[in-house]
Amino acid sequence: MPEITVTKYNGFCNGVQRAVDTAMKIDPAGTYVFGEIIHNPTVVQKIAERGIVTVDSPEDVPDGARMLVRSHGMAKAWYAYCKAHSINIVDCTCPFVAKIHSVVERESAAGKHVLILGNRNHPEVKGIVGWCSSSYTVIEKEADIPPETEKECALVCQTTFSEEKAEKIIANIQIIYQKTVAIYKTLCYTTKGRQTEAEALSRNSDGMIVIGGRNSSNTQKLYEICRKHCQTVFFVEKLDDLDPDETKNLKKIGVVMGASTPSLQTQEVFIWKKKKK
Ligand code: SF4
Repeated sequence: MPEITVTKYNGFCNGVQRAVDTAMKIDPAGTYVFGEIIHNPTVVQKIAERGIVTVDSPEDVPDGARMLVRSHGMAKAWYAYCKAHSINIVDCTCPFVAKIHSVVERESAAGKHVLILGNRNHPEVKGIVGWCSSSYTVIEKEADIPPETEKECALVCQTTFSEEKAEKIIANIQIIYQKTVAIYKTLCYTTKGRQTEAEALSRNSDGMIVIGGRNSSNTQKLYEICRKHCQTVFFVEKLDDLDPDETKNLKKIGVVMGASTPSLQTQEVFIWKKKKK
């Protein structure tokens, strides 16, 4: 029988839990949600079944309706838009993300160029950009580091950015830039904890199972980390998607879950682990 180890950090993080709980309890009549509430198809479907409509933009929400803001947050201008259209905001922006908004708002008001480490297409980064009132650059990889500008800079990180990548990029910026760069390491503790555990476990396993939504940024990062340290890595949305034959020759299996993986799927992992004993 294989030895199965499940990471300590599993199930929803606090930010996702709050947004999902709100969506499951709120009166669905006249309620809209701006973007997928979390990157998990099972949960998204449950919320849709309640009658809550997902929209791509607040402009798709009728005047006077209710709109839930997911944990990724949204651009500052949308708050003004909602006010002007009497859209009642139920704000589930994660406090870690809200903190980044206030940092970039303050630093850009002071005239600084904002450097954002993150994926420019991710909704969290689009939201952060929307709080910058002066110039900014999104940096996904070291090659994106811009030449030093005339202005002083402030740097923030998308909460789910890889800690290892962030450290390398920050070290490079500090070598290249002569002016002071205010560094705000805004990775969230859940992300950091999961990444550290994923690395340690994948170094000591001959097979890793990464469970989470395919379009979830933090789950993708976990997958990349595991791939780096372990040859056999399965990326599945739920345990059921895994072909048992594929793991039968493995002796030490590690299981890691993204921050948007529901506790029901986590429980399934523990039941599976028990059966394997
Ligand atoms: S991963 Fe971190 S920042 Fe993102 S919602 Fe969860 S707690 Fe908040």
